[in-house]
Amino acid sequence: MINEQLLSGTLAAAKDISTAERNLEQAKEKYCQNIRRLHLSGASVREIAEALNVSHQRVHQLVTNASSGWRESLRAVPKETMTDKKMPCGFCGAGKDGVEALIAGPGVYICADCTAIVEDVMIDQTSRAPNFKTVERSSKLRCSFCSKRTGRDRNVVAGVNAQICNECVEICKKILKEYGIASKT
Ligand SMILES: [Zn+2]
Ligand SMILES: [Zn+2]
Repeated sequence: MINEQLLSGTLAAAKDISTAERNLEQAKEKYCQNIRRLHLSGASVREIAEALNVSHQRVHQLVTNASSGWRESLRAVPKETMTDKKMPCGFCGAGKDGVEALIAGPGVYICADCTAIVEDVMIDQTSRAPNFKTVERSSKLRCSFCSKRTGRDRNVVAGVNAQICNECVEICKKILKEYGIASKT
């Protein structure tokens, strides 16, 4: 024998808890993403810690944990350290002013928008990006980020000045997600 009224009150409370928990998770994620973006846009760990009144260690942990788990050679480039001439996106040629974020590999860069376009090209050859081409298996072109070639499980797409494979695109997407950066395309 269960009291229906009490039961429905209990169920409503349970629903409130799960909503609150979900909101808390989202707020935490947003907090972390924004701290990383502050750092990416040029603020020092010390400045961020002081402005938010949290410890340096906490901020340091957040900004260094970003992307370190994926692959050491791929990382987001802080806008402050971008120079227009030296660091254009290897796929569309956009420089500092044209991009929100660049991801750097060994001497090569890709912007957030091109990451999304490359993914489209990998899914659908007849995509809207005439400058992007899938690299044939017979080609000697390698992924500029990991140096691997097109193979059974690896698609490589070439842009204007660089190539990237599907595995490295996935890593780029994870890095962008850590910063809460969505491509505009
Ligand atoms: Zn680009
Ligand atoms: Zn690669």
